[in-house]
Amino acid sequence: MAKQVVTRTYTASIRNQQQVSDDLDSLGFAASKLWNIGRWTISRVWDEIDYIPEHDELTAYLKSHERYDDLHSQSSQRVLQELAEAFNGWYGKRRNGDTRANPPGYRKHGDDHPRSTVTFKAAGFKLDTQYDRVRLSKGSNLKEHWSDFILCEYQTRPDVDLSTIESVQQVRAVWTDEEWELHFVCKVEIEVSESPGEKTVGVDLGINNFAALAYEDGHAELYPLNCLKQDDYYFSKRIARCDDADSKQATRLHQTKSARRTHYFHTLSKHIVERCVDEGVGTVVVGDLSGIREDEENGESKNWGKHGNLDLHSWAFDRFTDLLEYKAEMEDIVVEQVSERDTSKSCSCCGRKRDANRVERGLYVCDNCGAVANADVNGAENIRQKVSPSLATDGVDETQNVSSAHQNLNRSEDGDRSNGWLAQPSTFLFDKETGVFAPQEQVTS
Ligand SMILES: [Zn+2]
Repeated sequence: MAKQVVTRTYTASIRNQQQVSDDLDSLGFAASKLWNIGRWTISRVWDEIDYIPEHDELTAYLKSHERYDDLHSQSSQRVLQELAEAFNGWYGKRRNGDTRANPPGYRKHGDDHPRSTVTFKAAGFKLDTQYDRVRLSKGSNLKEHWSDFILCEYQTRPDVDLSTIESVQQVRAVWTDEEWELHFVCKVEIEVSESPGEKTVGVDLGINNFAALAYEDGHAELYPLNCLKQDDYYFSKRIARCDDADSKQATRLHQTKSARRTHYFHTLSKHIVERCVDEGVGTVVVGDLSGIREDEENGESKNWGKHGNLDLHSWAFDRFTDLLEYKAEMEDIVVEQVSERDTSKSCSCCGRKRDANRVERGLYVCDNCGAVANADVNGAENIRQKVSPSLATDGVDETQNVSSAHQNLNRSEDGDRSNGWLAQPSTFLFDKETGVFAPQEQVTS
């Protein structure tokens, strides 16, 4: 076994939620307000001199703003940094010719502010692993005479022990739509296997198939959300039948629903990593879903969020990606995130991109080469090709990889990758009887 230092994010629940939630709410709202002030400032500078300020310029400019002192200075700085990153991301998309990309929006729902994530860096938190407590600093505006910090009692998963961890670098307070939770960002030394595979697999995360996998050798797998959908429907109905939305019974149902969801994500990520080990995969390529977050900030979550009875938020995908990374690392499998740009619009066989409606009953049909593929698998294959083009010639530089792969594929007309495999992925279902994922034909439900 070899040793490797990696960054890990551990999620923890807050045991004294009731005592701290008002204070965390204030910080979360303050972060949204500061975001909006930054957003407005950027608009003004942009209108005046046609220039988008960088985060350090933004920080220098807003440091004396009253709202800057609502949070610890490092936390405020991080909000403006996120804003600048979001602008850079959008600007990059525009530069690449994506004219429909929207700039990051204001964080507002009518007159209300959403609870933004608040990040605490080294000077902003104090961790007491003996008593499982962490002190989170407030900004000077929100300090009261008797308390200038929030004392959270946390509970990590049983297999995580923060006292054994070399360094906790950041703490984030994250609102999950139900309650606040803490994310500890840590540097950890892990043991990794020394014989990782060399193949790649592309993963497309979505709301019909939670995951579609396209392997390098051409086979594909689908993981539909059947079980979560049924679960959500069942629990939503029971919650709706509760007399009082804040009652003990309703709270318990919410907790059960959320625990079952977490279990599903754990089981699925574990299953995918096991499949990767079996298939000799060394690199998992996942679409970066930050574009979805931007849409949500604009208040229009498009096709995401509510989907039928399923209410999946982008943090669920983030969390799943974290879990996948965590489990992959132990097998020395790398998880790479790439932009999802054009991955649903392009044909993974010939590379032809089109803006027209991409799918017909879940199939991607290419007018150019005639390939027919499951739309999610086509997306996954495009994602995979961003890192490892099939049949690529050696020494092509990364920016050319995708197009040269397509040329190569175009040349090999023997049909080994077109039609067939992309259209007929094998489907794995979550089997409630056994609690594991199994091929569709083996699941009785
Ligand atoms: Zn094509």
